Amino acid sequence: MQALTQRSKIVSDKKMTFLERIYLPAILGGVMITIKHMFKRSATVRYPEKEREFSEIYRGHHVLKRDDKGAERCTACGLCAVSCPAEAITMVAAERNKGEENLYREEKYAATYEINMLRCIFCGLCEEACPKEAIFLTDRIVVTDYGRDSFIYGKDKLVEPVDARIDVSKRQTKEVLEFKKLKQLTHNK
Ligand code: SF4
Ligand code: SF4
Repeated sequence: MQALTQRSKIVSDKKMTFLERIYLPAILGGVMITIKHMFKRSATVRYPEKEREFSEIYRGHHVLKRDDKGAERCTACGLCAVSCPAEAITMVAAERNKGEENLYREEKYAATYEINMLRCIFCGLCEEACPKEAIFLTDRIVVTDYGRDSFIYGKDKLVEPVDARIDVSKRQTKEVLEFKKLKQLTHNK
């Protein structure tokens, strides 16, 4: 049989030696590992008193963006859901009514949009797939909870508030921002 990794070990059922039977060398070996770690720099921090510094492109809680005038950018095309490897995104599309132009940017919009945060692996592929620059991952943390249902994030948690916009410009490289200035892309403002 072909081995998939180099880590497999052949287990033999040979008789244990006296030293193996009294377990002392194994216990001492374990204690030595513990002592060694006591003098190493701790890998953990005392959260929440101390917080780690986040990377500028940390991928956390998603945001559904609005355009300059405050209308929702998402047009419920479904590309983010199709590109999601965890199948975490679901949505229901609806048609925009007359008089709702200030609410939704295009004729079609997401009446419901949900992300299952327990399924999400924060890969960022939804952000990359979106042709409308509607969805971004941010540096906000998805907070813990006791019930599974509370991890289904709907539009109430995802769409950015009109009066408290979420800045995602730092997530985009200088090259991308330059690219977006191209005349043929100005319709997507
Ligand atoms: S970050 Fe990845 S896993 Fe999470 S919703 Fe987006 S595409 Fe799916
Ligand atoms: S977030 Fe973007 S990719 Fe997803 S449905 Fe809306 S417009 Fe399409």
